[in-house]
Amino acid sequence: MENNKQMRKWLDDMNLPHPLVIAGPCSAETEEQVLKVAHDLKDTDVNYYRAGIWKPRTRPGNFEGVGAIGLKWLQKVKEETGLKTATEVANRNHVDLALEHDVDLLWIGARSTVSPFIVQEIADALKGTDKVVLVKNPVNPDLSLWLGAVERLHSSNIEKLGVIHRGFSTYEKTKYRNIPEWQLAIDLQTRFPDLPIINDPSHITGKRDMIFDVSQTALDLNFDGLMIETHCDPDNAWSDAAQQVTPDRLVQIMKDLRIRKETDEQAEYNSKLNNLRAQIDVIDNQLIEIMGKRMKVSDEIGALKKKRNVAVLQSNRWNAILGNMILEGEQRGLSEEFILRMFKAIHQESINHQEKIINS
Ligand code: PEP
Ligand code: MN
Repeated sequence: MENNKQMRKWLDDMNLPHPLVIAGPCSAETEEQVLKVAHDLKDTDVNYYRAGIWKPRTRPGNFEGVGAIGLKWLQKVKEETGLKTATEVANRNHVDLALEHDVDLLWIGARSTVSPFIVQEIADALKGTDKVVLVKNPVNPDLSLWLGAVERLHSSNIEKLGVIHRGFSTYEKTKYRNIPEWQLAIDLQTRFPDLPIINDPSHITGKRDMIFDVSQTALDLNFDGLMIETHCDPDNAWSDAAQQVTPDRLVQIMKDLRIRKETDEQAEYNSKLNNLRAQIDVIDNQLIEIMGKRMKVSDEIGALKKKRNVAVLQSNRWNAILGNMILEGEQRGLSEEFILRMFKAIHQESINHQEKIINS
């Protein structure tokens, strides 16, 4: 697949003065709930109304979606509010039913993107459709798998394409439900600048009070839109309760976000600069995270040394590390002087950590 402007024509043609907004509940629960949220979102920036009809739950025994009846409710949403509709499809049967009920935007969920068989089945069922089809990133941070899914749709003559960045699973608990790994999304944008990319801060954060910050980072990184789960009574939602926001809160979030528009040369300069600065912010945060991780390992070594009554400073080991890092640094255009200063500082912090443990 090559980068091509055609992929984003559906979005450019909408001529939006703001990022694309997809909002609505995680799951369609009842006809009343679906219509209430839709009416609350009617005269806002929302462009597509989302509601999960079939829910891919990690463990069985949870609410798995209302099924096809919910598609009738989405049709009603369109009739009563004029909002376009969106839902997740995970097999040929879902696709057939969603198309029958004239859903305007279909997306492939993170748990489906990992399976080339499923993606191919969906691509075959959608062949030549003029609906918008978006691909969520796979649960694991694999750019090829993500792009592979887009390619399967592209080969099925689907022209209105895009991707949704919803973060990635980790075994380790982090402050995110699914860590954003922004670098991966930036790599994708670099390779396919014309492929629309939407951010899903709801599934990245898992917590409603983190949604604003992640949305702002996404806009600073030139994302084309946001998908935000919105519910009239978030705390009592049948799925993803902690991350859903009320329609009022969604409107406030959209109002407070700094939206970067490129209108003239100055704006283009600013937008590029902001984009690069946002990339630096992401990388700086990664540096802090990785330093934190390094010091944790260091603490464990400290505990081990304490048990065996071994000295903190091991000069041979340290000289070997420095030699290796100077060579690695050289290959990346980093001066020996910088490497030495940086690693001396890291080493000192590490010694401080271990001293503290040994003397505790
Ligand atoms: C969803 O959008 O409700 C959903 C299930 O998302 P994901 O595929 O990102 O987990
Ligand atoms: Mn959800």
